[in-house]
Amino acid sequence: MEKLLFVYNPCSGKGQIRGSLSQVIEILSKKGYDVTVYPTKREMDGCETVEKRAKEFDLIVCSGGDGTLDEVVTGLLRSGQKRVLGYIPAGSTNDFANSLGIPKQMEQAARLITDGVPFSCDIGKFNDNYFVYVAAFGMLTDVSYQTRQDLKNALGHAAYVLEAMKRMGTWRSSHLHVECEEYTGEGDYVFGMVTNSDSVGGFKGLPGKNVALNDGMFEVMLVHTPKNLIEWQEAISAVLFPDQKSEVVQRFKTKHMVITSETPVAWTRDGENGGEHTRVELDNMCQVLEIMTPGDDEPVPHGAAL
Ligand SMILES: [Mg+2]
Repeated sequence: MEKLLFVYNPCSGKGQIRGSLSQVIEILSKKGYDVTVYPTKREMDGCETVEKRAKEFDLIVCSGGDGTLDEVVTGLLRSGQKRVLGYIPAGSTNDFANSLGIPKQMEQAARLITDGVPFSCDIGKFNDNYFVYVAAFGMLTDVSYQTRQDLKNALGHAAYVLEAMKRMGTWRSSHLHVECEEYTGEGDYVFGMVTNSDSVGGFKGLPGKNVALNDGMFEVMLVHTPKNLIEWQEAISAVLFPDQKSEVVQRFKTKHMVITSETPVAWTRDGENGGEHTRVELDNMCQVLEIMTPGDDEPVPHGAAL
């Protein structure tokens, strides 16, 4: 009998997993897995548990929001074990699940783990840490996570613009040196984001065009500090609409990049606190994670959240 470790965060998505937990476990168990259930108890518990115990199991499944996914993927990579991962999203935005076509409905996502197709996905390396789909600095990061989902659904990009405008006066910029094959720059930047995802902060298309999660490349967006109100408007609109050309917003793809600064810059990784750094080295680890997805021929609709 194949052994499955099911790690879930009881607090994710306002505890929505509680209502589906027994069905999810039944679906996995009926397919013949010997299921071990592990509710996480504190921050980094999921990471440490998977790092320590991955070798005892044939398959790892996690359920929670972006933070839980980030922890479990980090634990799995640190363990050095090659294991297929199943993901049952239970957060509020779930950009990454949307990019992979993993359904929001938990029982459907659980069925995908037994009947889906493994997909070899890229993972980001951030100094000695990992991120699944986004590493970012600057104020827009918390705008995207703090703009209420119902507002985003109702107003789309407008909600984001409103929230961004509201905070314009409080944006802090950082003096950075950015170096990679595709782009070299030094100056003041107000925001930056390195992604491997179709959507970020609940906005599909924000990272750019022709996104592939297994091409070994990140999408990068860097926003220079605007000098006046007109540049501010230009910046916000160029962030939201990737087709708009702008001197203020730099977009490119790369597989390796180094960002340095004299003063420490606060980063987020997968929407969680990523620490303060004066040097960040980013590497795309091509196709290192096998994750269960619907596959190409069987697209699963993922709701109206986008
Ligand atoms: Mg990519």
